[in-house]
Amino acid sequence: MSFFGLVRSVLIGDNRTAKIEIGETVNIEFFGGAETVTGSKFLVQENETRILVDCGMFQGLKRLRLMNWESLGFDAAKIDAVILTHAHLDHCGALPILVKQGFKGPIYCTEPTLELAKIILLDSAKIQEEDAEYANRKGFSKHHPALALYTVKEAENVLPLMKAISLHQERKVGDLAFTLYGSGHILGAASALVSSSTKKVYFSGDLGRYNDPLMFPPEAPPAADVIIMESTYGDRDHSLVSSKDFLKECILEVCKSRGVLLIPSFSVGRMQNLLHEIVELKRSEEIPGQVPIFANSPMGDEASALYEKFHDFHRLGSGQFAEVLSEVHSVKTAEDSKNLNETLSRPMIVVAASGMLTGGRILHHVKSFGGDPRNILLLAGFQSAGTRGASLLEGARELKIHGRMHPINCKVVASDSFSAHADRNDLVTWLKSAERVPQRVLLVHGEISAAEALRSKIQAEAGIETEIAKLGQSITI
Ligand SMILES: [Zn+2]
Repeated sequence: MSFFGLVRSVLIGDNRTAKIEIGETVNIEFFGGAETVTGSKFLVQENETRILVDCGMFQGLKRLRLMNWESLGFDAAKIDAVILTHAHLDHCGALPILVKQGFKGPIYCTEPTLELAKIILLDSAKIQEEDAEYANRKGFSKHHPALALYTVKEAENVLPLMKAISLHQERKVGDLAFTLYGSGHILGAASALVSSSTKKVYFSGDLGRYNDPLMFPPEAPPAADVIIMESTYGDRDHSLVSSKDFLKECILEVCKSRGVLLIPSFSVGRMQNLLHEIVELKRSEEIPGQVPIFANSPMGDEASALYEKFHDFHRLGSGQFAEVLSEVHSVKTAEDSKNLNETLSRPMIVVAASGMLTGGRILHHVKSFGGDPRNILLLAGFQSAGTRGASLLEGARELKIHGRMHPINCKVVASDSFSAHADRNDLVTWLKSAERVPQRVLLVHGEISAAEALRSKIQAEAGIETEIAKLGQSITI
């Protein structure tokens, strides 16, 4: 119970109500990333100090995307600071909304996250503007005029507030303090320990894998009373076939059929891992040396340059990521991208964004290459419900792209071994590695079935009281 017992209610969206208790206790509230994978937003409060951990965008199903337009559920102007765990949109994509609504404090993150978030936020704003412009031109929006969730200008307003900090260095924010630890998920990704004078809460952020080809393994959780942990793959163990072996098999198959291996990919994280492993296969002569590799994502190029710049944050040394890139053809312009669809060069490997086929240059490639049975389309990442990628996983043999149906006659394969997320075993191993057994674990960032499966496993194997955080829930420790 709170010391003063003072409770106020805040309306989230239309009918979900959360409680904020103000007193000499630490309160945590879940405004996103609870009972779903996207929209991470966790508010930690002690007395009048409020820190928001992540400010992510809801993605995937329309029901979720619409939540980006609803109230944040709290007063943005009263937040003292934001901790950004990493640069993926489901963690940083609502920062422009937060700033638009009056947040003026610092946004703390690692230096690579700061650089990556700049690229990702500006790209996101550009897409929002283009989508609104397209809806107005085609007249299919119910809103007149259709508006962008935020503009490039509004995304730019976020950038001066971002402050880079080092891992393992404590920062004070009012009555609270926090420290970042490596989470191994993508370049610069961190977990965050938030402490009051008497309580400690550890937010896992997104956790990477122990055997990621590029990223370091996640650090063991420091001593904390409560651990808030992700559960994306809480119901699954990744395939025993490594991502590299899976790639090798696909590449050898298109070499034989003289086809195209098409890999939809996130521009940040996945693309760099893929390029690294394909180049390694080439160097070890496990695949023919002459197969050209095309990376088709301007944002991916910018992210790749940061993987070289911040080589201390991953397993490759200085100069080594630049060497990987020297063996990859970067597709710069939209014109070059179109030409690639018309080239007769076979076999070839094309890695292009976006990773779930929701937009980007990959869609043009699918239109061009998807109909040919000699080609392979490799789904190398999580496919959110409602996306074209998820339809393919469910066996769809045609896709609606740019308003028309296109046949999919190529081979469609998928593997979760490319994932940048810890799997069920990794998650439990990570929790068990904690410096001290936490009193309580709350699961976030997972579909309910995944969180439920992980909850059972943690309780059975680690004997720790575990619950699934609910959207709008408030807990007091
Ligand atoms: Zn992530």
